[in-house]
Amino acid sequence: MSNPSLLILPGDGIGPEVMAEVRKVIDWFGAKRDLAFDVSEDLVGGAAYDAHGTPLTDETMAKAQEVDAVLLGAVGGPKYDALDFSVKPERGLLRLRKEMDLFSNLRPAQCFDALADFSSLKRDVVAGLDIMIVRELTSGIYFGEPRGIIKEGNERVGINTQRYTESEIARVARSAFELARRRGNKVCSMEKANVMESGILWRDVVTEVHQAEYADVELSHMYADAGAMQLCRWPKQFDVIVTDNLFGDLLSDAAAMLTGSLGMLPSASLGAPMGNGRPKALYEPVHGSAPDIAGQGKANPIACVLSFAMALRYSFDQGAEADRLEAAVEKVLADGVRTADLLQAEGETPVSTSEMGDAIIAALDAGL
Ligand code: NAD
Repeated sequence: MSNPSLLILPGDGIGPEVMAEVRKVIDWFGAKRDLAFDVSEDLVGGAAYDAHGTPLTDETMAKAQEVDAVLLGAVGGPKYDALDFSVKPERGLLRLRKEMDLFSNLRPAQCFDALADFSSLKRDVVAGLDIMIVRELTSGIYFGEPRGIIKEGNERVGINTQRYTESEIARVARSAFELARRRGNKVCSMEKANVMESGILWRDVVTEVHQAEYADVELSHMYADAGAMQLCRWPKQFDVIVTDNLFGDLLSDAAAMLTGSLGMLPSASLGAPMGNGRPKALYEPVHGSAPDIAGQGKANPIACVLSFAMALRYSFDQGAEADRLEAAVEKVLADGVRTADLLQAEGETPVSTSEMGDAIIAALDAGL
Protein backbone atom coordinates (compact mmCIF):
# COMPACT_ATOMS: atom_id res chain seq x y z
CA MET A 1 0.00 0.00 0.00
CA SER A 2 1.23 3.49 -0.78
CA ASN A 3 1.77 6.04 1.94
CA PRO A 4 -0.94 8.60 2.65
CA SER A 5 -0.28 11.84 0.78
CA LEU A 6 0.12 15.30 2.22
CA LEU A 7 0.40 18.59 0.34
CA ILE A 8 2.20 21.24 2.34
CA LEU A 9 1.59 24.90 1.52
CA PRO A 10 3.75 27.00 3.86
CA GLY A 11 2.58 30.35 2.42
CA ASP A 12 3.85 33.70 3.68
CA GLY A 13 5.35 35.43 6.71
CA ILE A 14 5.78 33.00 9.60
CA GLY A 15 4.07 30.24 7.56
CA PRO A 16 7.35 28.72 6.29
CA GLU A 17 8.97 29.08 9.73
CA VAL A 18 6.27 27.19 11.63
CA MET A 19 5.90 24.64 8.83
CA ALA A 20 9.61 23.79 9.03
CA GLU A 21 8.95 22.56 12.58
CA VAL A 22 5.98 20.50 11.42
CA ARG A 23 8.27 18.89 8.82
CA LYS A 24 10.49 17.72 11.71
CA VAL A 25 7.42 16.19 13.38
CA ILE A 26 6.28 14.51 10.14
CA ASP A 27 9.78 13.07 9.64
CA TRP A 28 9.78 11.83 13.23
CA PHE A 29 6.56 9.85 12.69
CA GLY A 30 8.08 8.33 9.54
CA ALA A 31 11.30 7.35 11.28
CA LYS A 32 10.04 6.34 14.71
CA ARG A 33 6.42 5.22 14.26
CA ASP A 34 6.53 3.62 10.85
CA LEU A 35 4.02 6.21 9.71
CA ALA A 36 5.47 7.69 6.54
CA PHE A 37 3.71 10.23 4.34
CA ASP A 38 4.28 11.14 0.71
CA VAL A 39 4.86 14.84 1.23
CA SER A 40 4.85 17.38 -1.57
CA GLU A 41 5.27 21.11 -1.11
CA ASP A 42 3.96 24.02 -3.14
CA LEU A 43 3.28 27.75 -3.07
CA VAL A 44 0.20 29.62 -1.95
CA GLY A 45 -0.69 33.24 -1.23
CA GLY A 46 1.86 35.99 -1.76
CA ALA A 47 4.62 33.45 -2.39
CA ALA A 48 2.61 32.00 -5.29
CA TYR A 49 1.81 35.48 -6.55
CA ASP A 50 5.52 36.39 -6.58
CA ALA A 51 6.39 33.26 -8.56
CA HIS A 52 3.35 32.91 -10.83
CA GLY A 53 1.27 36.10 -10.67
CA THR A 54 -1.60 34.24 -8.98
CA PRO A 55 -2.14 33.28 -5.32
CA LEU A 56 -2.91 29.68 -6.32
CA THR A 57 -2.09 28.07 -9.65
CA ASP A 58 -4.44 25.59 -11.32
CA GLU A 59 -1.75 22.93 -10.91
CA THR A 60 -1.58 23.45 -7.15
CA MET A 61 -5.37 23.45 -6.95
CA ALA A 62 -5.47 20.14 -8.85
CA LYS A 63 -2.87 18.66 -6.49
CA ALA A 64 -4.89 19.77 -3.47
CA GLN A 65 -7.90 17.91 -4.85
CA GLU A 66 -5.90 14.70 -5.25
CA VAL A 67 -4.02 14.38 -1.96
CA ASP A 68 -5.36 12.88 1.26
CA ALA A 69 -4.86 16.14 3.18
CA VAL A 70 -3.54 19.67 2.74
CA LEU A 71 -1.58 21.42 5.48
CA LEU A 72 -1.33 25.21 5.14
CA GLY A 73 0.80 27.73 7.07
CA ALA A 74 -0.54 31.25 6.59
CA VAL A 75 -1.01 33.75 3.79
CA GLY A 76 -0.81 37.51 3.43
CA GLY A 77 1.36 40.43 4.41
CA PRO A 78 1.76 44.18 3.93
CA LYS A 79 3.75 43.65 0.72
CA TYR A 80 0.54 42.48 -0.94
CA ASP A 81 -1.93 44.98 0.55
CA ALA A 82 -2.11 47.12 -2.59
CA LEU A 83 -2.77 44.20 -4.98
CA ASP A 84 -6.04 43.93 -6.83
CA PHE A 85 -8.65 41.99 -4.81
CA SER A 86 -8.65 39.16 -7.37
CA VAL A 87 -4.99 38.27 -6.76
CA LYS A 88 -4.66 39.03 -3.05
CA PRO A 89 -3.01 36.19 -1.08
CA GLU A 90 -6.27 35.41 0.78
CA ARG A 91 -7.93 34.55 -2.56
CA GLY A 92 -5.66 31.50 -2.75
CA LEU A 93 -6.98 30.20 0.56
CA LEU A 94 -10.59 31.02 -0.34
CA ARG A 95 -10.22 29.17 -3.63
CA LEU A 96 -8.96 26.08 -1.83
CA ARG A 97 -11.89 26.15 0.61
CA LYS A 98 -14.44 26.76 -2.12
CA GLU A 99 -13.26 24.28 -4.74
CA MET A 100 -12.65 21.54 -2.17
CA ASP A 101 -16.14 22.35 -0.80
CA LEU A 102 -14.94 22.35 2.81
CA PHE A 103 -18.25 22.87 4.56
CA SER A 104 -17.31 21.80 8.08
CA ASN A 105 -14.85 23.93 10.01
CA LEU A 106 -13.49 22.39 13.20
CA ARG A 107 -12.09 24.72 15.81
CA PRO A 108 -11.02 23.05 19.05
CA ALA A 109 -10.75 25.10 22.23
CA GLN A 110 -8.43 23.13 24.39
CA CYS A 111 -6.73 24.48 27.48
CA PHE A 112 -3.39 22.96 28.37
CA ASP A 113 -2.98 22.98 32.14
CA ALA A 114 0.34 24.79 31.98
CA LEU A 115 -1.32 27.71 30.19
CA ALA A 116 -4.54 27.96 32.23
CA ASP A 117 -3.41 31.26 33.75
CA PHE A 118 -3.25 32.77 30.27
CA SER A 119 -7.00 32.86 29.98
CA SER A 120 -8.96 35.93 30.97
CA LEU A 121 -11.23 33.52 32.87
CA LYS A 122 -10.49 31.90 36.21
CA ARG A 123 -8.23 28.84 36.19
CA ASP A 124 -10.90 26.40 37.40
CA VAL A 125 -13.27 27.52 34.62
CA VAL A 126 -10.77 26.73 31.83
CA ALA A 127 -8.22 24.20 33.16
CA GLY A 128 -8.68 20.93 31.29
CA LEU A 129 -11.16 22.47 28.86
CA ASP A 130 -11.57 20.45 25.64
CA ILE A 131 -14.43 21.48 23.38
CA MET A 132 -14.90 21.52 19.62
CA ILE A 133 -16.83 24.09 17.65
CA VAL A 134 -18.11 22.90 14.28
CA ARG A 135 -18.93 25.88 12.08
CA GLU A 136 -20.74 25.60 8.75
CA LEU A 137 -18.30 27.22 6.34
CA THR A 138 -19.65 27.41 2.81
CA SER A 139 -23.18 28.79 3.09
CA GLY A 140 -25.33 31.09 5.23
CA ILE A 141 -25.25 34.86 5.40
CA TYR A 142 -21.71 35.27 4.01
CA PHE A 143 -22.82 33.75 0.70
CA GLY A 144 -26.63 34.21 0.49
CA GLU A 145 -28.26 36.22 -2.30
CA PRO A 146 -29.50 38.91 -2.61
CA ARG A 147 -26.66 40.90 -1.18
CA GLY A 148 -25.23 44.35 -1.73
CA ILE A 149 -25.75 48.00 -0.96
CA ILE A 150 -28.72 49.51 -2.79
CA LYS A 151 -30.32 52.92 -2.89
CA GLU A 152 -33.81 53.28 -1.43
CA GLY A 153 -35.12 56.80 -1.78
CA ASN A 154 -32.52 59.06 -0.24
CA GLU A 155 -30.55 56.52 1.66
CA ARG A 156 -28.41 53.44 1.10
CA VAL A 157 -29.47 50.02 2.36
CA GLY A 158 -27.04 47.20 3.11
CA ILE A 159 -28.41 43.72 2.42
CA ASN A 160 -27.21 40.22 3.25
CA THR A 161 -29.28 37.08 3.18
CA GLN A 162 -29.19 34.15 5.58
CA ARG A 163 -30.06 31.10 3.50
CA TYR A 164 -29.66 27.41 4.31
CA THR A 165 -30.92 24.35 2.47
CA GLU A 166 -31.85 21.20 4.37
CA SER A 167 -28.96 19.29 2.82
CA GLU A 168 -26.44 21.96 3.86
CA ILE A 169 -27.65 21.73 7.45
CA ALA A 170 -27.83 17.93 7.44
CA ARG A 171 -24.26 17.43 6.22
CA VAL A 172 -22.68 19.69 8.83
CA ALA A 173 -24.89 18.13 11.52
CA ARG A 174 -23.62 14.67 10.50
CA SER A 175 -20.07 15.93 10.70
CA ALA A 176 -20.70 17.14 14.29
CA PHE A 177 -22.39 13.89 15.37
CA GLU A 178 -19.56 11.81 13.89
CA LEU A 179 -17.04 13.88 15.81
CA ALA A 180 -19.01 13.62 19.03
CA ARG A 181 -18.93 9.83 18.78
CA ARG A 182 -15.12 9.99 18.86
CA ARG A 183 -15.16 12.38 21.83
CA GLY A 184 -17.62 12.99 24.66
CA ASN A 185 -20.69 11.91 22.63
CA LYS A 186 -22.54 15.22 23.18
CA VAL A 187 -23.65 17.81 20.62
CA CYS A 188 -25.15 21.21 21.38
CA SER A 189 -26.67 22.90 18.31
CA MET A 190 -26.86 26.70 18.38
CA GLU A 191 -29.06 29.00 16.28
CA LYS A 192 -31.64 31.74 16.77
CA ALA A 193 -34.84 29.76 16.18
CA ASN A 194 -36.66 32.32 18.35
CA VAL A 195 -36.24 35.07 15.75
CA MET A 196 -35.03 33.50 12.47
CA GLU A 197 -36.82 31.09 10.13
CA SER A 198 -33.47 29.71 9.03
CA GLY A 199 -32.91 28.94 12.72
CA ILE A 200 -36.20 27.05 12.93
CA LEU A 201 -35.21 24.96 9.91
CA TRP A 202 -31.72 24.44 11.38
CA ARG A 203 -33.19 23.10 14.62
CA ASP A 204 -35.67 20.84 12.76
CA VAL A 205 -33.08 19.32 10.44
CA VAL A 206 -30.50 18.74 13.20
CA THR A 207 -33.22 17.01 15.22
CA GLU A 208 -34.27 14.85 12.24
CA VAL A 209 -30.70 13.77 11.46
CA HIS A 210 -30.20 12.99 15.13
CA GLN A 211 -33.32 10.85 15.42
CA ALA A 212 -32.69 9.00 12.17
CA GLU A 213 -28.97 8.33 12.44
CA TYR A 214 -27.38 9.40 15.73
CA ALA A 215 -29.85 8.70 18.53
CA ASP A 216 -26.94 7.35 20.63
CA VAL A 217 -25.41 10.85 20.80
CA GLU A 218 -26.77 13.30 23.38
CA LEU A 219 -28.26 16.33 21.59
CA SER A 220 -29.27 19.69 23.07
CA HIS A 221 -30.25 23.00 21.47
CA MET A 222 -29.40 26.49 22.61
CA TYR A 223 -30.03 29.98 21.25
CA ALA A 224 -26.68 31.29 20.05
CA ASP A 225 -26.75 34.35 22.33
CA ALA A 226 -27.36 32.16 25.37
CA GLY A 227 -24.62 29.87 24.05
CA ALA A 228 -22.16 32.78 24.01
CA MET A 229 -22.98 33.47 27.66
CA GLN A 230 -22.63 29.83 28.64
CA LEU A 231 -19.27 29.61 26.84
CA CYS A 232 -17.93 32.29 29.17
CA ARG A 233 -19.76 31.11 32.29
CA TRP A 234 -18.99 27.37 32.25
CA PRO A 235 -17.48 26.18 28.96
CA LYS A 236 -16.79 22.68 30.26
CA GLN A 237 -20.51 21.84 29.95
CA PHE A 238 -19.95 21.49 26.18
CA ASP A 239 -18.36 18.77 24.09
CA VAL A 240 -19.18 19.51 20.42
CA ILE A 241 -21.04 22.69 19.42
CA VAL A 242 -22.48 22.85 15.90
CA THR A 243 -23.61 26.15 14.45
CA ASP A 244 -23.94 28.18 11.27
CA ASN A 245 -21.35 30.26 9.48
CA LEU A 246 -22.02 33.62 11.15
CA PHE A 247 -22.58 32.41 14.72
CA GLY A 248 -19.70 29.98 14.31
CA ASP A 249 -17.39 32.79 13.28
CA LEU A 250 -18.14 34.66 16.51
CA LEU A 251 -18.45 31.72 18.89
CA SER A 252 -15.24 30.02 17.72
CA ASP A 253 -13.21 33.20 18.19
CA ALA A 254 -14.70 33.73 21.65
CA ALA A 255 -14.02 30.10 22.58
CA ALA A 256 -10.48 30.35 21.24
CA MET A 257 -9.69 33.18 23.59
CA LEU A 258 -10.75 31.05 26.56
CA THR A 259 -7.47 29.28 26.04
CA GLY A 260 -4.92 32.08 25.61
CA SER A 261 -2.51 32.65 22.75
CA LEU A 262 -3.23 32.75 19.02
CA GLY A 263 -0.03 30.77 18.53
CA MET A 264 -1.71 27.72 20.09
CA LEU A 265 -4.85 27.34 17.97
CA PRO A 266 -5.22 24.70 15.24
CA SER A 267 -8.14 24.19 12.86
CA ALA A 268 -9.46 21.75 10.29
CA SER A 269 -11.85 22.27 7.39
CA LEU A 270 -13.46 19.11 6.11
CA GLY A 271 -15.57 18.30 3.05
CA ALA A 272 -17.35 15.28 1.68
CA PRO A 273 -15.67 11.85 1.77
CA MET A 274 -13.47 11.05 -1.23
CA GLY A 275 -13.34 7.67 -3.00
CA ASN A 276 -11.08 6.26 -0.25
CA GLY A 277 -13.52 7.28 2.48
CA ARG A 278 -11.32 10.09 3.78
CA PRO A 279 -12.88 13.54 3.83
CA LYS A 280 -11.43 16.31 1.69
CA ALA A 281 -9.39 18.16 4.28
CA LEU A 282 -7.38 21.33 4.87
CA TYR A 283 -5.55 21.80 8.16
CA GLU A 284 -4.17 25.18 9.22
CA PRO A 285 -3.36 27.24 12.27
CA VAL A 286 -5.92 29.92 13.12
CA HIS A 287 -3.29 32.67 13.15
CA GLY A 288 -2.18 34.69 10.14
CA SER A 289 1.26 35.39 8.71
CA ALA A 290 2.30 37.65 11.63
CA PRO A 291 4.43 40.07 9.58
CA ASP A 292 5.50 41.85 12.78
CA ILE A 293 7.60 38.85 13.84
CA ALA A 294 8.22 37.08 10.51
CA GLY A 295 11.80 36.04 9.79
CA GLN A 296 12.92 36.53 13.41
CA GLY A 297 12.56 33.00 14.74
CA LYS A 298 9.99 34.17 17.29
CA ALA A 299 6.86 32.44 16.00
CA ASN A 300 5.20 29.75 18.06
CA PRO A 301 4.91 26.62 15.87
CA ILE A 302 2.46 24.82 18.20
CA ALA A 303 -0.74 25.88 16.37
CA CYS A 304 0.66 24.39 13.17
CA VAL A 305 1.94 21.27 14.95
CA LEU A 306 -1.48 20.75 16.53
CA SER A 307 -3.07 21.19 13.09
CA PHE A 308 -0.98 18.23 11.97
CA ALA A 309 -2.23 16.31 15.05
CA MET A 310 -5.77 17.01 13.80
CA ALA A 311 -4.77 15.62 10.39
CA LEU A 312 -3.51 12.46 12.08
CA ARG A 313 -6.85 12.10 13.86
CA TYR A 314 -9.38 13.15 11.22
CA SER A 315 -7.73 12.25 7.89
CA PHE A 316 -5.50 9.32 8.76
CA ASP A 317 -7.41 7.57 11.57
CA GLN A 318 -4.36 7.75 13.80
CA GLY A 319 -6.06 8.94 16.99
CA ALA A 320 -3.49 7.31 19.27
CA GLU A 321 -0.62 9.01 17.39
CA ALA A 322 -2.47 12.34 17.56
CA ASP A 323 -2.77 11.81 21.34
CA ARG A 324 0.95 11.10 21.43
CA LEU A 325 1.76 14.37 19.66
CA GLU A 326 -0.61 16.41 21.84
CA ALA A 327 0.90 14.81 24.95
CA ALA A 328 4.37 15.84 23.73
CA VAL A 329 3.18 19.45 23.35
CA GLU A 330 1.61 19.28 26.80
CA LYS A 331 4.89 18.00 28.29
CA VAL A 332 6.94 20.74 26.66
CA LEU A 333 4.60 23.38 28.08
CA ALA A 334 4.58 21.73 31.51
CA ASP A 335 8.39 21.81 31.43
CA GLY A 336 8.19 25.58 31.03
CA VAL A 337 9.43 25.79 27.43
CA ARG A 338 7.93 28.99 26.02
CA THR A 339 8.11 30.97 22.79
CA ALA A 340 7.86 34.74 23.27
CA ASP A 341 4.07 34.84 22.92
CA LEU A 342 3.70 32.49 25.91
CA LEU A 343 5.86 34.35 28.42
CA GLN A 344 4.06 35.16 31.65
CA ALA A 345 6.61 36.51 34.11
CA GLU A 346 9.41 39.00 33.77
CA GLY A 347 12.83 37.44 33.45
CA GLU A 348 11.58 34.35 31.57
CA THR A 349 13.68 33.58 28.50
CA PRO A 350 11.86 32.59 25.33
CA VAL A 351 12.98 29.80 23.03
CA SER A 352 13.08 30.26 19.26
CA THR A 353 10.69 28.67 16.79
CA SER A 354 13.14 25.90 15.97
CA GLU A 355 14.05 25.32 19.62
CA MET A 356 10.35 24.80 20.34
CA GLY A 357 10.21 22.28 17.46
CA ASP A 358 13.28 20.49 18.85
CA ALA A 359 11.73 20.38 22.32
CA ILE A 360 8.60 18.76 20.88
CA ILE A 361 10.74 16.15 19.09
CA ALA A 362 12.64 15.48 22.34
CA ALA A 363 9.32 15.03 24.17
CA LEU A 364 8.12 12.64 21.43
CA ASP A 365 11.34 10.63 21.89
CA ALA A 366 10.89 10.65 25.65
CA GLY A 367 7.36 9.31 25.24
CA LEU A 368 8.44 6.18 23.29
P1 NAD B 1 -1.92 37.47 12.74
O1 NAD B 1 -2.61 36.26 13.26
O2 NAD B 1 -0.95 37.26 11.65
O3 NAD B 1 -1.16 38.21 13.95
C1 NAD B 1 -1.83 38.80 15.07
C2 NAD B 1 -0.85 38.93 16.23
O4 NAD B 1 -0.58 37.62 16.79
C3 NAD B 1 0.51 39.48 15.80
O5 NAD B 1 1.01 40.32 16.82
C4 NAD B 1 1.38 38.26 15.67
O6 NAD B 1 2.74 38.50 15.90
C5 NAD B 1 0.80 37.31 16.72
N1 NAD B 1 0.92 35.91 16.29
C6 NAD B 1 0.18 35.29 15.34
N2 NAD B 1 0.60 34.03 15.19
C7 NAD B 1 1.60 33.84 16.06
C8 NAD B 1 2.44 32.74 16.37
N3 NAD B 1 2.32 31.55 15.75
N4 NAD B 1 3.40 32.90 17.31
C9 NAD B 1 3.53 34.06 17.95
N5 NAD B 1 2.77 35.15 17.71
C10 NAD B 1 1.82 35.03 16.77
O7 NAD B 1 -3.06 38.48 12.29
P2 NAD B 1 -2.94 39.92 11.56
O8 NAD B 1 -1.74 40.65 12.08
O9 NAD B 1 -4.27 40.52 11.67
O10 NAD B 1 -2.70 39.58 10.02
C11 NAD B 1 -1.42 39.52 9.39
C12 NAD B 1 -1.59 39.00 7.97
O11 NAD B 1 -2.06 37.66 8.01
C13 NAD B 1 -2.60 39.78 7.14
O12 NAD B 1 -2.12 39.87 5.82
C14 NAD B 1 -3.85 38.93 7.20
O13 NAD B 1 -4.68 39.11 6.08
C15 NAD B 1 -3.26 37.55 7.21
N6 NAD B 1 -4.10 36.50 7.84
C16 NAD B 1 -4.05 35.28 7.27
C17 NAD B 1 -4.76 34.23 7.83
C18 NAD B 1 -4.62 32.87 7.20
O14 NAD B 1 -3.69 32.64 6.45
N7 NAD B 1 -5.48 31.92 7.53
C19 NAD B 1 -5.52 34.43 8.98
C20 NAD B 1 -5.54 35.70 9.56
C21 NAD B 1 -4.81 36.74 8.98
